[in-house]
Amino acid sequence: MIKENLKEVEARIAMACERVGRDPNEVTLIAVSKTKPVEMLQEAYEEGVREFGENKPQEMRDKYPCLPSDIHWHMIGHLQRNKIKYIIDKACMIHSVDSARLAQAISEEAGKHGLVIPVLIEVNMAKEESKFGIMPEEVWAFVREISTLPNIRIEGLMTIAPFTVHPEENRIHFRNLKKLSVDIGAKNIDNVNMRHLSMGMTGDFEVAVEEGATMVRVGTGIFGARDYTV
Ligand SMILES: *Cc1c(COP(=O)(O)O)cnc(C)c1O
Repeated sequence: MIKENLKEVEARIAMACERVGRDPNEVTLIAVSKTKPVEMLQEAYEEGVREFGENKPQEMRDKYPCLPSDIHWHMIGHLQRNKIKYIIDKACMIHSVDSARLAQAISEEAGKHGLVIPVLIEVNMAKEESKFGIMPEEVWAFVREISTLPNIRIEGLMTIAPFTVHPEENRIHFRNLKKLSVDIGAKNIDNVNMRHLSMGMTGDFEVAVEEGATMVRVGTGIFGARDYTV
């Protein structure tokens, strides 16, 4: 099932790219494996997947030693400062930086390991009260504030769009995030490079790709529905 799902998602990404004249190689598919057992990750690995996304630090820490070391682990979920230590030497990127205190703590912890860790700034594009993330109008000041931290490197923006059965409704949020990233990138701020846009999930990744996503985070579409009751 994972094999067929992967083929289908990859084909849909390729078609979305074709519709807007993008090169599919510009889009990285992150297989969001949260709640799924390592056997399923292994199966995806055998189909060629090397980018995995987890949203809980302990879960990433626990899965990490069970799987091959050439996997790139993306921390995509809300991160508490006291849990950074579980993943700082395991994550290739943290997609969910949403406060200056968190950015500071990540930089400090990375410093202890002699690392400079790539991070994305999570933006709450739809201004949903239930969501984490920096408000769009505050991103500029936030970027400047954390750009001076020595052990993080700002590599772009991330958003979790509202849940909807109509993906077209999220187009405006993806388009606005892209615009924000282009505007910030044009300012050439030290230590800031807007090369990545992490946006799009199972329900809306094609629209996100059409609007410029460089990373899509797909869980259900690859691994099937999650069961939170076990
Ligand atoms: C769970 C999760 C996803 C994947 O969601 P699906 O709808 O299953 O594709 C993507 N991004 C984040 C931040 C997540 O927590």
